[in-house]
Amino acid sequence: MSIPRRMIPLLLAAAGAAAGCQSKPAAETTSPAHSVYVDTRTGQVVRAEHSVTLPAVNPGTGQRTLMPGLYCAECRKWYPAPPLEVRQRTPNAGQCPRHGTALTADGPLPGE
Ligand SMILES: [Zn+2]
Repeated sequence: MSIPRRMIPLLLAAAGAAAGCQSKPAAETTSPAHSVYVDTRTGQVVRAEHSVTLPAVNPGTGQRTLMPGLYCAECRKWYPAPPLEVRQRTPNAGQCPRHGTALTADGPLPGE
């Protein structure tokens, strides 16, 4: 055994973290299983099962056109979240295009 004994808990923690990336997060039970998405093709706001892969599948059409919704309280409108690479390039990608205010993931859910 070449690994020092004190390293073993660290290795186990690292393995657990790596496994956690692939399976559903442990917090799944406390967070809603459904998220708000905006269809980038139609602008329709829908609730769909939380998806790790984006764009997510629109349950109405079966097409991968859904991006996570970001809400502007002033517009009272959901905007589709920009893709990760756009967010990394564009500092204000998470802001309302009209108000310049920060968009949030919280807002009134459609159909409720
Ligand atoms: Zn706005």
